[in-house]
Amino acid sequence: MTEKLYFIDSHMKNFEARVLSCTKADRGYEIILSRSAFFPEGGGQPGDIGRLEYCGALINVVDCFEREGDTVHLCESPLPVGERVRGEIDYKLRFSRMQNHSGEHIVSGIAHTLFGCSNIGFHMGNEEVTLDFDKVLTGSEVERLELSANEAVWKNVRFISSFHTKEELENINYRSKKEISGTKVRLVTIEGYDVCACCAPHVDFSGEIGIIKILGFMKYKSGVRLRLLCGADALLHYRESMESIKNISVLLSAKYCGVAGAVGELYEELKREKEEKAALRLALAEKIISSLKPQNGNIIIFDNMLDIKSARVVVNAGAELCEGICALFLGNEGKYTFVMASKGVDLKQKALEINAALSAKGGGSSTMITGNAACSRDKITEYFNMQK
Ligand SMILES: [Zn+2]
Repeated sequence: MTEKLYFIDSHMKNFEARVLSCTKADRGYEIILSRSAFFPEGGGQPGDIGRLEYCGALINVVDCFEREGDTVHLCESPLPVGERVRGEIDYKLRFSRMQNHSGEHIVSGIAHTLFGCSNIGFHMGNEEVTLDFDKVLTGSEVERLELSANEAVWKNVRFISSFHTKEELENINYRSKKEISGTKVRLVTIEGYDVCACCAPHVDFSGEIGIIKILGFMKYKSGVRLRLLCGADALLHYRESMESIKNISVLLSAKYCGVAGAVGELYEELKREKEEKAALRLALAEKIISSLKPQNGNIIIFDNMLDIKSARVVVNAGAELCEGICALFLGNEGKYTFVMASKGVDLKQKALEINAALSAKGGGSSTMITGNAACSRDKITEYFNMQK
């Protein structure tokens, strides 16, 4: 069984070990070492990545997982069994994961104490961390939870991990997400805040987490799902958010704190303009309709101002005036969007022929079809005149 060095020191970046086995697998080579600081995925935290060095050559560890007590390092190249290697974990990534995971323990512990919530789910994604509680929380309760969690960070309390037998556990009050298995159970204690069964590496002091930010929450099953970021990831998120607000404020010539109001005004203006544009299009559609004359054959209209919605109104009116097809083409030479309606021609059946003749992609019902045509105005006119 691999000696798990992260249990001894969660901040260990480098270590030396002997290669116990190396097996070719689908995704690369599965290498088991005598000892390892790599954390295999577990408890919602992904497996570490990093490198193994042998005779000056660096081999990438692209994933890490546990199998029957051993830590399996998934590597891009093989290593000779029995030889000594030097391991190095991607510590920047590991530390940010420890910050997020340790922050999650603080939030879950406080939510349990303050509101009687049980953590029923924890997922550490690439973008953010989610945790699920079995109880609904209000906005002010979530704010209180976030503040209390950050107060725990400011107090710089200790994280202590310890192993216990099942008998010992009977006398300890601790949280656990799942049924405990194995002879010894690892508990992570946050002094004054929480005791929880967990197999992952954590920070030594809460101050290392830096900040705990709850990004948002939503109803989930019979409780809530919290979106969370801690430490370096929270700082990056803050930076990106501020950059985004700064760019909006420059664009709108609005003050930092006034961007929401400025965007609201812009939104209302846009809504008004959209409504005006729709009314103008409808007026234009009515003007086009009033100019249409009854025909024996087809009616073909080209226009650049209408949209699909108003074009439908026009072709529906046109279809009443002709025995053939009323076709309206929007756009420019070679890139037309079309709407066609007919009372006398089954357009669903005709679509295949139209698509072939006009280099088009379109379809719909037997009374109306829409699509795009990559052909010239002359080609369209020629086709519909032939159909007369
Ligand atoms: Zn945990």
